[in-house]
Amino acid sequence: MLLPELRLEVAETARNMFRWGLVRGTSGNISARDPGSGHVALTPSGMDYEKVHPEDVVVLSIDGEVIEGNRRPSVEKPLHLAFYRARPDVLAVVHTHAPYATALSMVYPEIPTAMPEIIFALGGSVPVAPYTTPGTEKLGLGALEAIGDRKGVILQNHGTVTIGESLDRALHRAVALEDAAYIYSLALQLGKPFVLSAEETRALRAKVGYKD
Ligand SMILES: [Zn+2]
Repeated sequence: MLLPELRLEVAETARNMFRWGLVRGTSGNISARDPGSGHVALTPSGMDYEKVHPEDVVVLSIDGEVIEGNRRPSVEKPLHLAFYRARPDVLAVVHTHAPYATALSMVYPEIPTAMPEIIFALGGSVPVAPYTTPGTEKLGLGALEAIGDRKGVILQNHGTVTIGESLDRALHRAVALEDAAYIYSLALQLGKPFVLSAEETRALRAKVGYKD
């Protein structure tokens, strides 16, 4: 079997995404790129995450051809491949339907820097990419354009995408994004939330290595 360790890691991360409450049923999908071969391991379409074994994780070429796997790849294959094609720094992509982040995207154009953690985990305010049809090339290109130098983006009326240099980092960011969305939603119910100043945002970004 090709890339057994990476496929196991994809299957385990998918289970953790489910356990963290970021998806229900078979929604959401996860991928990782093998830096050596350049191949991408992607979760299968429509499978209960508790039942996904490494051999169910589909290995794809960067052009989207199935190299190995006995299942159909996730329908969001174009979204994952768009990131790997355009961003050599990205080795993992996590897509969830996390409820609070998705709900906010139906009303607001971003999740602002209302907490330091959103800057530490995601690089700043998290943008919302305008709605496009799931499973299309356009969805991937819209997400790429919106994400800029952040580590996460919300697909309007759909869900979140977080990226990283490892599956652990990308999943951690998905959890941090949903936490920030949850807390910001609570604050919105109480009144007008205080948001960190541009100066404080810049200072915290500098702490985690951003230049401006
Ligand atoms: Zn989705």
